Amino acid sequence: MKRFILTKLNTHTIKIYLIVCICLINLFNLSIVLASKCGELKNFGQLTIKFDHQANSIEQYKLDEKKRRQQLKSFANNFFNDYMKGKIDNHHLELIEECYRDEEYQSINQEINLAFYNNTVEIIAKWGELSHKFSKLLENSNSIIKIYGHNKPVKNLNAGYDRGKLSIFMDITSIKPEEWPIHFIHEQVHALDKILRQSVIYFGDPEIVDEIESIINNSLSAEKSGENDCILTSSQKEIVSKWCQASFERGIKTQMRAWSISTLLYLEAMNNNKITKIPWIEEEFLSKENSHLNSNYEWSLKDFKINGPKYVMNLLLTNFKVNYGDVFSYPILKNEIKRIYEDMNNNPVKHIEFDSILSTFFEIDNHVEGSKKN
Ligand SMILES: [Zn+2]
Repeated sequence: MKRFILTKLNTHTIKIYLIVCICLINLFNLSIVLASKCGELKNFGQLTIKFDHQANSIEQYKLDEKKRRQQLKSFANNFFNDYMKGKIDNHHLELIEECYRDEEYQSINQEINLAFYNNTVEIIAKWGELSHKFSKLLENSNSIIKIYGHNKPVKNLNAGYDRGKLSIFMDITSIKPEEWPIHFIHEQVHALDKILRQSVIYFGDPEIVDEIESIINNSLSAEKSGENDCILTSSQKEIVSKWCQASFERGIKTQMRAWSISTLLYLEAMNNNKITKIPWIEEEFLSKENSHLNSNYEWSLKDFKINGPKYVMNLLLTNFKVNYGDVFSYPILKNEIKRIYEDMNNNPVKHIEFDSILSTFFEIDNHVEGSKKN
């Protein structure tokens, strides 16, 4: 009996040993796999100073911190350079997330965002006079970019400007390196666009939205009681008009400003042999098929500087579909949206507006009388 118990116990102990061994072997294998996977990141630089490093003195701490910052910076710069050579994909972004602990991961991420920002500004500055001017604007702006892979905030967009958070996201796994600076410029114009910022604030202003709501309700009850027209006061008319204008400013019109400037700087870079041709820019914003231009016509930088915004506005209008859904399905707003849209079609130049900073790239007087200059 005693012997039997002993044997039983032994088998049980052996089983436990076996399980522990298998777990240890698996852990060991996992760490080997992780170590070799994480080794790939060493190409960007080695991070030898850890965050939990206990310095013996303040001098030592300062020294370590300086060294750590330099390591992070060179890691991020090398990461950017490899991206520009087409060597980075989603796998690398995932590895960074997998191979570094929270604090390290955050610092690396921040440093990568900064490296992409600073290095791109430096590249753009060398394209020519206008691009240099634009890079100076960016040096003094507070705009930030966040680099993403497949886990980007908006699935179907390569890049975007979050109008609420006032930050830019860019997906390096779907933007081709040679097109990177153009996407960057486009999003930066949104970030610099004061008209966009003001219209976002106006469009979401709770007091204005309350006012719009009561105007809608009044118009609906007037309709019910058989009145043909809901009489608005002049200040109500102004609110409806400004609110509908704001919806265009944060949509098609900010795209017009962003594409005009991106295309202008693209032309400058092409002129100075700084970038290779980007077919979709040529096709969408410079193509003769898209315009009244005759077949021999090619845009010069100077021509585009004078006529570019008008041209881009016309192009966008041809492809633009007005959204009469949601809130704009109420007749009182729908009519105003329709009126503005028709006005834009009949007289696009009147709607070309750049704030004072962005207008320096084009010789544009704001609020020009469209019919005279069209
Ligand atoms: Zn845009």
